[in-house]
Order: sequence, then structure tokens, then C-alpha cells
Amino acid sequence: MRWQAQTLDVEDGALPGLTRAGLVRSVRTPEFDGVTFHEVLCKSALNKMPESSSLPFRWTINPMRGCTHACRYCFARSSHEYLDLDAGRDFDSQIVVKTNVAAVLRRELGRRSWRREAVALGTNTDPYQRAEGRYRLMPGIIRALTDAGTPFSILTKGPLLRRDLPLLTEAARRVEVSVAVSIAILDMDLHRGLEPGTPAPRARLELVRALADAGFAVHVMVAPVIPCLTDSTAHLEALFAAIAEAGATSAVAFPMHLRGSTRDWFLEWLGTEHPALIRRYRQLYGRGANVTPAYATWLRERVNPLLDAYDLRRPQGRTTPAAPTPTPADPQLALFG
Ligand code: SF4
Repeated sequence: MRWQAQTLDVEDGALPGLTRAGLVRSVRTPEFDGVTFHEVLCKSALNKMPESSSLPFRWTINPMRGCTHACRYCFARSSHEYLDLDAGRDFDSQIVVKTNVAAVLRRELGRRSWRREAVALGTNTDPYQRAEGRYRLMPGIIRALTDAGTPFSILTKGPLLRRDLPLLTEAARRVEVSVAVSIAILDMDLHRGLEPGTPAPRARLELVRALADAGFAVHVMVAPVIPCLTDSTAHLEALFAAIAEAGATSAVAFPMHLRGSTRDWFLEWLGTEHPALIRRYRQLYGRGANVTPAYATWLRERVNPLLDAYDLRRPQGRTTPAAPTPTPADPQLALFG
């Protein structure tokens, strides 16, 4: 009954994009002030990357679309426009939840044609954003991947992942599991302005520590680096020191991209909060999405010595919990040992 009371009228005014996505109902709840969840039944869970992609995985899973972490720089914003929602506030507050994603995934992984290629989570929106606490989609996804002998990786800013640490540790005994945490900003004022819905950097460092203690080789994405705001030697030095201290084994840093609608959303914030930087950003980005090659080189030369100094170039991804134990009933496990 409680759910009934929270259900919005989806017949009247549901956006065509949401209807196409399989909308069942839209829900608001007091714990998520200002957020609407659009619960959909997805037809497929696995997304295939384009053949031209240079990323080290061919398959992804996105249990949700939109992200309450609300990072101003988020490159996934324009994906909301396919749902007839906007890439600004709607992306932060109109969250599409694929409530049947684990069941659909299990069916897809059970096909004889499935070749157990690596699957990545967190490449578009964060699977451990706050809504995961309510919908608990990840345990079913992790179990489905593990049971199917499929290696997988997770990238997140969400300490909520700690809830599933026992499950992930168990999964890592049977398949290859990689976990990466995104921490790009230590300064609290910038964190509140640029990543207002994300847990504090300190909580993410504690997540790194918890993962390391559980035996995971934790990779940290210092990304994006925000030109003129988070690229000072002092900021980067403090950040890499904290990451190493938390137990990460590897890290990478790269400059912010400003593509499509993300560009407008970010520059609106910059113009309000740091108007003096607008001119410099015009020089760095011009009309494009990427910083100039000169800036990219400059940043690399600033970051590389820090990676060496803090020993953050060790192999990523593999876990050190007990080695996989293939059984005759599950011979595929040997492939991932
Ligand atoms: S946590 Fe990731 S997906 Fe979510 S808003 Fe931030 S950058 Fe986007």
C-alpha cells in the first residue's frame, strides 16, 4: 500500500522516451527528496560496445540511467536526452531503474552463444548511486555474472559497494573481478560544487581501504582533472598521497572532456562560480570537447612522477583472495584462475 501511495500517474504525461524504455510506474519517496524513480522492465541487460571502441571490454551493464551523484562534468548526461529528459537537472533527479535487470541478465548469460567475455559496470552511470540502497540490483547482477563464469569490473564513487563486499570477495574466488574507485577532488568546497550528490572524498578513500583489506587490487581513477581547479601540484600531490595511503595499487588521471550537453552544464557552473576562468577555458577547449594537446602533455608530465613516487603503477584488477578452485561441474572456472 505504501508503494501505491508513492506511485505517480504514469498514464497521464509519461514521456514517450520512458514509454519506449518499458516504463511500469514512476515513484517518489520521502527518503529521496526531489527525485523521481521511473521503474522500467528492460528487454536486454547486456550492451555491446561498438567494434571501433578502444576500451578493454566489449560488454557493459547499466542498471540505472541518470545519476543522483549529479557531477557537473558527467559525460553521460546527454544519454538522458534519448529518454526525452534533459541532461541537466533531469539527469540528476529523474532516475530510470531497470528493476528486472538481474533476471534478464541471467537469461542472456545462459545462452549457449555467450562467450564469457569481460563485462564492465559503471561505465555510463554509477551502479552504486544512492538508489541502489533501495533497489538492491547489484547483488543479483554479481551472482548472475559469477554463476555464468563471467569476469567483470565495477567503477564507482559509491561506498555503498561495501554492502556487497562479502559477495564480491566470494565472486573473486570464481571469476576475475576488478574494482575501481573514482576520486578526483579532495577540496571540500569544490566537491560540494561539482559533485554535490556524491559521498565525501574521505568516504571513498575508506572504500579503497576496505577493498584493499579484502584483498582487491584497487585502481583509482583521478578523473576528471579539472583544469585550473584541481590540477595544482599541491592538490594532485595530496590526492595521490591519500590514495596510496588508503591502499590503492594503481591510479590514472586524465583531463576533463566537455562533450555535448555536459559542456553547457559545466560552463554554466564555471561562469557563476569562477567567471575569471572562462577565458582560459576558451583557450583550452576552443569549440571542442578535449583540452589542447599541450595541456594534456603538461598534465601527464605532472602526474607521472607522482604515480612513481607513490608506487601507483602496479598491476590492476586481479584479486588476492584465495585462488579459484575449479570443479569438474564448472570447468570454465579454470579459465579465470
Ligand atoms: S558518479 Fe559518475 S555517473 Fe554519476 S554523475 Fe558522477 S560522473 Fe556521472
